[in-house]
Amino acid sequence: MSLSATDVAVIGAGPVGCVAAIALARRGSRVTLLDATPVGKRLAGEWLHPAAVRLLNELGVPLPPSSSRESARGFVVYPEDGSDPIELAYPDGRSGLTCEHHVLVAWLRGVAGGTPGLVIRTDVRVTRVVDQTVHCLRQFGESETLSAPLIVGADGRGSVARRSLGLPDGREAVSMMASVRLTGVRLPFEGFGHVCLGGPGPVVITRIAPDAVRICLDIPPSNDRDFRSSPTLIHRYEAAVPASLRPAFREAMTHDTIEWAANQRRPRRDFGRPGLALVGDAAGHCHPLTATGMTTGFLDVDQLAKSRSFEDYRRHRTSRSLGPELLAEALHRLFSRSDPASLALRQSVYSTWRRNARERERTMRLLSGDDVGLFSFGQSFLSAAGGAATRRGGLFATGLAPWLGWLGRSVAPRVLARGVSFL
Ligand SMILES: Cc1cc2nc3c(=O)[nH]c(=O)nc-3n(C[C@H](O)[C@H](O)[C@H](O)COP(=O)(O)OP(=O)(O)OC[C@H]3O[C@@H](n4cnc5c(N)ncnc54)[C@H](O)[C@@H]3O)c2cc1C
Repeated sequence: MSLSATDVAVIGAGPVGCVAAIALARRGSRVTLLDATPVGKRLAGEWLHPAAVRLLNELGVPLPPSSSRESARGFVVYPEDGSDPIELAYPDGRSGLTCEHHVLVAWLRGVAGGTPGLVIRTDVRVTRVVDQTVHCLRQFGESETLSAPLIVGADGRGSVARRSLGLPDGREAVSMMASVRLTGVRLPFEGFGHVCLGGPGPVVITRIAPDAVRICLDIPPSNDRDFRSSPTLIHRYEAAVPASLRPAFREAMTHDTIEWAANQRRPRRDFGRPGLALVGDAAGHCHPLTATGMTTGFLDVDQLAKSRSFEDYRRHRTSRSLGPELLAEALHRLFSRSDPASLALRQSVYSTWRRNARERERTMRLLSGDDVGLFSFGQSFLSAAGGAATRRGGLFATGLAPWLGWLGRSVAPRVLARGVSFL
């Protein structure tokens, strides 16, 4: 059986697919948005940087009601040595927002459903894409097809659209995330995400609703099965959690269900082909420490809607994805490792942030998606490496060679493969 023809078929009604469908329908296309499931609860993105909020405003997408969201003014980093927390506010007083993932997706699906020219179906699992035809299965096994001149693959990390292009999966496991939700607590810095170091991996604490706070523990890969038990997690991570939150943290870790998610990485090298564009996690993703997944996906959508050709879209997004990707990778490495070189680099980063307002601003411009230049990333990295080397008597004495090796291995091939400009 064939569904009616449409101008655009968007596969996946997650946050990025919904925004893609809304953006393309607002430009006058007839859009069909397809998903296999109704909105469910899962541990995923809850933080939108200011660039994402600006794009929603430009598209005329109303924000979720204030009773279910919080404003996000930046991050506060708690060094592992117990020294004062470091505040990294977004430049120019701007703010992003936080919202529980399922609340945000339900809201965006609601907006999509009310957009003229947009039809949303949440009972169809896409099985493959052949040329310009999407093949789907309905709940009871009935097959359907839908043809469209433009197909958008917004179907997340396990994307069928991506598989249909014959691309290798390319996902790499990085770590696990364990999370609990706290109620009735006050954060030391309300309005800020708290990144707390000193555990086996960073702990990220965010208010996600007026009455709820989320604590996420980044858990390095381990063969030790006991590592993931609640008493072990409390024991290993509690000291990194700010003292005022420890009783609630212990209580939730002991009595509530711990939510889990796998943190993976897939470099954003492939954006599809003419007639089939990949957006959001389907195009690639990085560790969630920098909370850039949805913002990056919304920026994909913005570029796709503006581009005159697929090549135009591919070129723009290829060059603009690398900076945020490297920042996420570098910060996760920096905040997770305890070898002397990483500790020296971390101390150098803290001291640069503490004394240099311009460096704090540069970090936040990179993080928020305002500045995606590799030049800025490289400058920040080299200034931190220089600081570490000065403190410890030279690059090799500090043991920074592996870090510089990582930089070379990460940047050089990607720049060459993508033809990325440094500016
Ligand atoms: C622990 C964790 C924390 C994170 N925190 C943040 C954060 O704070 N901020 C941030 O920006 N990002 C964060 N991220 C990343 C963020 O969750 C993702 O970048 C974001 O969800 C990607 O959106 P998407 O729409 O591209 O894909 P998804 O959210 O994966 O949505 C894909 C949709 O496609 C549908 N689908 C899949 N396959 C099919 C099929 N075959 N047929 C039909 N439908 C299909 C799915 O049902 C789903 O609705 C985090 C990720 C993790 C794991």
